[in-house]
Amino acid sequence: MRRNRRAKIVATVGPASGSPEMLEALFLAGVDTFRLNFSHGTHDDHAKVHAAIRALELKVGRPIGILQDLQGPKIRVGTIKDGQFSVVAGEQVRFVLSGSNGDKMSIPLPHSEIFKAVTPSDDLLIDDGRVRVRVTGLGNDYIDAKVITGGAISNRKGVNVPSAVLDLSPLTAKDRADLAFGLELGVDWIALSFVQKPGDIIEASGLIGERAGIMAKIEKPAALEHIDDIIRLSDAIMVARGDLGVEIPDEDVPGRQKELIRSCRLAGKPVIVATQMLDSMIAAPTPTRAEASDVATAIYDGADAVMLSAESATGLYPREAVEMMSRIIQSTEHHKLYRSILDASRPGEEKTAPHAVAAAAADLAEAIHASAIVAFTSSGTTAARIARKRPKVAILAITPDQRVSRRLCLLWGAHSVQSKDIKNYEEMVVRATETALTEAFGQRADSIVVVAGIPFGEAGTTNNLRVVQIG
Ligand code: PGA
Ligand code: MN
Repeated sequence: MRRNRRAKIVATVGPASGSPEMLEALFLAGVDTFRLNFSHGTHDDHAKVHAAIRALELKVGRPIGILQDLQGPKIRVGTIKDGQFSVVAGEQVRFVLSGSNGDKMSIPLPHSEIFKAVTPSDDLLIDDGRVRVRVTGLGNDYIDAKVITGGAISNRKGVNVPSAVLDLSPLTAKDRADLAFGLELGVDWIALSFVQKPGDIIEASGLIGERAGIMAKIEKPAALEHIDDIIRLSDAIMVARGDLGVEIPDEDVPGRQKELIRSCRLAGKPVIVATQMLDSMIAAPTPTRAEASDVATAIYDGADAVMLSAESATGLYPREAVEMMSRIIQSTEHHKLYRSILDASRPGEEKTAPHAVAAAAADLAEAIHASAIVAFTSSGTTAARIARKRPKVAILAITPDQRVSRRLCLLWGAHSVQSKDIKNYEEMVVRATETALTEAFGQRADSIVVVAGIPFGEAGTTNNLRVVQIG
């Protein structure tokens, strides 16, 4: 089965979508990669969903990506007396390192890193920024602050400290246990939350190795400061607008989204735009006009994928949300202004042989009206180099590695197929034409452009271009 669009859809699985029937319905509606959110659910829940997705893969005969999203060092207040209290602007409050049954003058904040990192005039944001307080003074185990924006503070609400770089590993003890579990299951991607610095990716990659792709979630201002290195070290990026919009002003998020997409396109790394894309569809069968426009904007920007969170995890209309997302992508990609807008933000050419061959493949395929660009790719790199050009002609990515075929379910324009290793040039031509025919990427007499790295099986090379007419 072939999708009628280039950008990919990621959907978060939760109580509204975890059954085998619903997972199948969502896949058929357009989901390319499922996200397992380890901020919620038990290992047993996630294992069941994982098994159901792998069973679905066999049933539909298509690779499906699975993304494990680790909770990361999310900071929270402790327990509050009677569950919650309210504060008003101008009021003085105190946070304490340890304690329970907190009140205004002893709000438990059991994270010593914060006490080391904040300085007077830093802001602490509580409950997704609903409450804002400014630090006025501090000691080793207390922080005094003045309320800037009042509201309720209740048990276990999240705390963000945008201006500080906290001495936190991106992997908590829970994350490490979750990661070991996810790698054991065989997830395709690991998403790291609250990445602050390039070293965070290096630390994670020491644990993950080649077993899964590493995705950095960009949701901290500190990450934006080192973004080029973070992108270089990661295999993919998520524009995590939920927390990013708490950490930086709302009005700066759209511009940052454009910057991040452009940098990822330049680097040839997949980029997902996430959070609140069709938020009102949590409770309604249709989105707002603004939400439809938000999805379209990400597509015009050239994002590889757009993501659903609560819409598919806990909402009332998961299938409708996926269908709507798919329709918006298709409509946008078919719009007469799509190409000119996409091309206006196209990254410059990279002057290396592999990039030039990939770029030439895209140009050649367009010039001869080829029905497909067939890429033989052992690590996925050749496919990514071609996708970087955002070609008009569809990319059929053939790989012997099942894990690579699944990871490619995030890459713009790639339809991936797992197929056993080819040994020589003749086999390459035969396999390319056969696969194009069976996957509906060409008919007899169509031309295809075949791209490969020779010698076969050596990852990272892209040095061969061939036009084949399907006979
Ligand atoms: P989350 O990440 O849903 O895990 O918080 C995405 C975001 O912050 O946008
Ligand atoms: Mn987040």
